[in-house]
Amino acid sequence: MTQLVDRGSAAELAALIEAAERVVALTGAGISTASGIPDFRTPGTGLWANVDPMAIAHIDVLNQDPATFWRFYSDRFTTLGSVKPNRAHQVLVELEEAGRLEAVITQNVDRLHGLAGTSELIELHGSIDRSPCTACGAIYQLDDVRTRASGADDGVPECDCGAMIRPGVVLFGEMLPQEALGRAFELAGEADLILCIGSSLEVHPAAGLPLVTAERGGTVAILTESATPLDDHAAIRLHGDVVAELEAVLEAIS
Ligand code: ZN
Repeated sequence: MTQLVDRGSAAELAALIEAAERVVALTGAGISTASGIPDFRTPGTGLWANVDPMAIAHIDVLNQDPATFWRFYSDRFTTLGSVKPNRAHQVLVELEEAGRLEAVITQNVDRLHGLAGTSELIELHGSIDRSPCTACGAIYQLDDVRTRASGADDGVPECDCGAMIRPGVVLFGEMLPQEALGRAFELAGEADLILCIGSSLEVHPAAGLPLVTAERGGTVAILTESATPLDDHAAIRLHGDVVAELEAVLEAIS
């Protein structure tokens, strides 16, 4: 494995944040690993070790074989339902409260930014927090969905109207919500600094957001352990643990 060399430092990133007028953050799975959530796209463990999530968490499976879909997704709800935000989520809340961060755009569905207290939050892939009925649109909370799923013979949670409840997340084979996507591109286009945190920047269209900022003359900073396709575009490129890096940035600001 080649050695990944940092460009810039946490202190330099702090100075950029202080100098910038509009800062947005784009986060991916890497910000949640310190909360104990494995990257969805890395090989699984335990019950679903031999299952490709992209084959099961798919809109076609939900429609054609809801029992199989919900066996998988109920497990996911159980795993994700108990995890807590970590210090990296909290640093972003503190930056927002200090007026240093305009919004968080996330690719994660784990609801941890919301639990941490981020108020301006764009969840590009939805959230496990809210699950709509496929017929009447009624919204159910995570714990309620889990209770309904475990109480059903086939494990498929049912709305009071009798129709199936689905996760309020973007499944494989589905489009991203246009409103959230539009807002994300608007924020990225207006930002003079975009902080990409824990994202491999491989999943489009979210991966295109830093380029939008760069094309408008803004600065791209990337805090992620592994290499990304946009590393050459980053003025600041830090490969350390995202919690430690963000702590150092916050400390250098205050
Ligand atoms: Zn309903």
